[in-house]
Amino acid sequence: MTTTVFHPDVYRTDLKPRSYWQATAKVRAAVPLEGARSTEVAIIGGGYAGLSAALHLARDCGIEAVVLEARDYGWGASGRNGGFATIPATKLSLADMIRRYGEGETRAFHAMQQRGLDTVRALIADEAIACDVQGDGNYEVAHSPAVVDDLKAAVEAWRQFGFEGEFLSREAFLEVGHAGTEQFGAMRFPGHFGLHPMKYLGGLREAAERHGATLYAQSPVIGWEKSGGLHVLRTPGGEVSARHVILCTNGYTPDGLRKDFDNRTVPALSNIIVTRPLTPEELAAEGWKTECTLTNARDLLFYYRLLPDRRILFGARGGTSGSPTEDMRMKAWLTRRLGEVFPSWADVDVEYFWNGLVCLTGRLTPAIGRLDDDPTVSYGFGWHGSGVVGGTIAGRLLAEALSEGVATPLRFPKPVLGLPPNLFHPLVRRFGLKAAYVWYAYRDWRAGRD
Ligand SMILES: Cc1cc2nc3c(=O)[nH]c(=O)nc-3n(C[C@H](O)[C@H](O)[C@H](O)COP(=O)(O)OP(=O)(O)OC[C@H]3O[C@@H](n4cnc5c(N)ncnc54)[C@H](O)[C@@H]3O)c2cc1C
Repeated sequence: MTTTVFHPDVYRTDLKPRSYWQATAKVRAAVPLEGARSTEVAIIGGGYAGLSAALHLARDCGIEAVVLEARDYGWGASGRNGGFATIPATKLSLADMIRRYGEGETRAFHAMQQRGLDTVRALIADEAIACDVQGDGNYEVAHSPAVVDDLKAAVEAWRQFGFEGEFLSREAFLEVGHAGTEQFGAMRFPGHFGLHPMKYLGGLREAAERHGATLYAQSPVIGWEKSGGLHVLRTPGGEVSARHVILCTNGYTPDGLRKDFDNRTVPALSNIIVTRPLTPEELAAEGWKTECTLTNARDLLFYYRLLPDRRILFGARGGTSGSPTEDMRMKAWLTRRLGEVFPSWADVDVEYFWNGLVCLTGRLTPAIGRLDDDPTVSYGFGWHGSGVVGGTIAGRLLAEALSEGVATPLRFPKPVLGLPPNLFHPLVRRFGLKAAYVWYAYRDWRAGRD
């Protein structure tokens, strides 16, 4: 039996997340693969990364692509997230990335992230994706006076790097943001926005099909061989032969599919509650004025936003099992914390709770590239919780690289190149995650950030 990082329920295909997004978007069923077929590029995984790769291959490169999704489209993280179109997709600070990769490569990485944000906006406009875009900018809220100087310094550092940001005092943020017990000012970066993740996914899917890609659902890849220079991917109902494969399974990457990828991903649970719609008076009671996306400045941060129908979405990473019992605890904890941050909402009904897997890597940066010993295999994963943009731009970059041919060296920034470290065993990853949570909680406490 394969050991998984989390409780088996986290991977059960018959359990759909009871998310607000599922309840408010029409999800068209797709057919499973039946029989044998061939294609130029087979893509494993139908989230943002896989669909963006298929769309860009078909639309911009004229290359035939087939997507194999194990479950329904949107079953993975792309149908479960908070809908924050924000950057960057890394847990490395600016200073740490410069120390490790140098200033030039760090600039290239962040330019790639900015191109990702622009790509998401352009896709929404060019492919007429109706996905409830909201707000201009993301606020990182100082939840304690101890972090105010850090945020001011961060604004300066980002400015020197060419990113326009500003710090708003508590009073200035009260005018445009919100009140609450954990509000001591906020750092704002323009250009980021909120969207409906399932509608964005549906739009990518429609666009990919419209431009000629073929999409199958309920088609998990359960076997992968290479014969006569072609990859053969086997599903329960058929098989696809392809000259190239792109792996886009991110936090749901199964061990055992292909050795190169075993134990390279670090999946982590992220959890969300959504309240009932709030009245204008209830929003006013917490001084709520913004449609922008928000996080706070903890290492183990909260992310939150007002949805178009006036509900509050409130989320955080956490949990190391994903069992039904832990899920109940998570829901209770998020509900309690919402009430502590915004006291007048302490008894507001929570109508939705769900969670899913984000994907980190052992080096804290994404992995976008090709296998050294077989350049016909490409991969993209590890968005560190920023996969709306991270997955979309990776799909585009991988499509562009394929159209240039595998003999052309990849010109991606160094922080994303090559496979991240192999972490030996799923249990190492589970206990590593537990240790990381303890470490981050300690850092938040030591810096007065808890
Ligand atoms: C609760 C939560 C909140 C989040 N909030 C945000 C946010 O606000 N903003 C943001 O940018 N990011 C957020 N993220 C992260 C973001 O959702 C992910 O980074 C992004 O969706 C990953 O896209 P992907 O295409 O790489 O992978 P996924 O969307 O996870 O898709 C991978 C797919 O691969 C499929 N698969 C796995 N194995 C196989 C196989 N053998 N054969 C075929 N298919 C297979 C899975 O079924 C899955 O659908 C959040 C994630 C979660 C869980």
